[in-house]
Amino acid sequence: MPTSADGGAGLAALYQERILDHYRRPRHKGALERATGVHSVKNPLCGDDVTVAVLERDGVVVDARFTGTGCSIMQAAASMLMELVRGRTRSEIDALSQRFDEMLAGGEPDDSLGEMSALAGVAAFPARHKCARLPWRALAETVDGRR
Ligand code: ZN
Repeated sequence: MPTSADGGAGLAALYQERILDHYRRPRHKGALERATGVHSVKNPLCGDDVTVAVLERDGVVVDARFTGTGCSIMQAAASMLMELVRGRTRSEIDALSQRFDEMLAGGEPDDSLGEMSALAGVAAFPARHKCARLPWRALAETVDGRR
C-alpha cells in the first residue's frame, strides 16, 4: 500500500487529475435499459443528487450506470464506482464499500478500490465524505432490490 510519504505532492496531483478526469468525462453515465434495480439518493448539504441503475444477473452486477448532478467529488466517485462494480457480486461490493469507508477514515489509498483509490484525499475533508459515499449508498439500495 502506498504511503503519502513516498508520493508527496506528485501523488496528490495525480489523484487530483484522475478525479477531474472522471468529473469531466464520466464513465457509464446515462440511462440503463433493462435495469433490475434503480435507486436515487440526495445529499442536501451539498446539493448532490444521484441515481444508480444496475442490471444484476445471478447475483452479479453485469452493468451499472448513473445519472445525476452534483459536486466534482460525487460525480467522480459515481463514475469510478460504476467502473469498479462491474462483474462483482453483492458480497464483493459490500466488502469494497467497507474498504472505501476505511480509506475515508484513514486517508491511505487502497489499491483494491481501483481508480477510486484516488479519492483517499477526501479523508482530509469530513464535510465531503457524504459526497463520496453517496453513489455507494444508492448502489447498495439497488443491489438489495429495494426501490
Ligand atoms: Zn457534494
